[in-house]
Amino acid sequence: MPVYHFDAERPIDLHTHSNISDGTESPAAVMRAAATAGLGTIALTDHDSFDGWEQAAGAVAETGVTLIPGVEISTQIGRASVHLLGYLVDPNYEPLRDELAAVRESRLGRAEKMVARIGADYPLSWDDVLAQAEPGATIGRPHIADALAAKGIVPDRSAAFDTILHWRGGYYQPHHAPHPTTAIKLVRQAGGVPVLAHPGSRGRPAMRDGNLAELIAAGLLGVEIGHRENDDINRGLLRYAARTNDLIVTGSSDYHGTGKPNRLGENTTEPDQLQRIIDAATGCAPHYAPAAPSAFGA
Ligand code: AMP
Ligand code: FE
Ligand code: FE
Ligand code: ZN
Repeated sequence: MPVYHFDAERPIDLHTHSNISDGTESPAAVMRAAATAGLGTIALTDHDSFDGWEQAAGAVAETGVTLIPGVEISTQIGRASVHLLGYLVDPNYEPLRDELAAVRESRLGRAEKMVARIGADYPLSWDDVLAQAEPGATIGRPHIADALAAKGIVPDRSAAFDTILHWRGGYYQPHHAPHPTTAIKLVRQAGGVPVLAHPGSRGRPAMRDGNLAELIAAGLLGVEIGHRENDDINRGLLRYAARTNDLIVTGSSDYHGTGKPNRLGENTTEPDQLQRIIDAATGCAPHYAPAAPSAFGA
């Protein structure tokens, strides 16, 4: 039996969001929710930001939950959005920091443009959107959705995405995002482990035209197969790709607090796969929870 420095008996969930991006809970509250859900390890993977790591790490001892620092990078192939998870990157690696800062900056201008256009037809202002986000948070359509709901224009976040905020809804604006091969290389240079998030979701750009092979050639190390947005056909294709390319395989919830129906631990990652991530990483270390007292004494 391998010796793990994380609790291999309790479930592992490697994709969660806090209010540093579009989750609804603080990083410490996400850690507490993970403990309540019975998880032993989570990765905090806010969109385009490392800003939640410190607070989450501060909650490791109290919650007994091991923290894997991570990030979900917004990338695109053509006009299609592709999300890349980066685990255990060096948060001080400047080229990656600069790219994430550029994405966040562009997201802000993009959201202001969308709100200006929506504001021509509905009683919505930029201040209404700012009221829905923590200062410095990675701004996205979820914050505009929450503002629309707070103003009573739509019933909830999901309804906003189905109508006004849909990419064909008439108000959509794009933002800057690197090609995933660029992000994969940055994550590797930062000593991290790049894992493709929910490759079988929304338009499935990663599954078309040899894109997955291109990403693997660029240094992709893993694929998130257990995710509610991956359908059965794509899970099969991904399992085959993982087997033939020796990729790490993960499963995760993509928890957003009350911002999405996804429940912590609804998909999980096997301990041996997490160990592969840890072994491949040189950018930073997990924040291990103190070992649980052994039933048989020390
Ligand atoms: P953006 O990156 O600003 O274009 O917004 C996309 C983000 O919105 C994704 O990362 C999701 O977390 C979130 N999202 C997408 N669809 C929905 C939905 N139907 N309900 C709630 N959140 C969603
Ligand atoms: Fe999100
Ligand atoms: Fe995502
Ligand atoms: Zn996510």
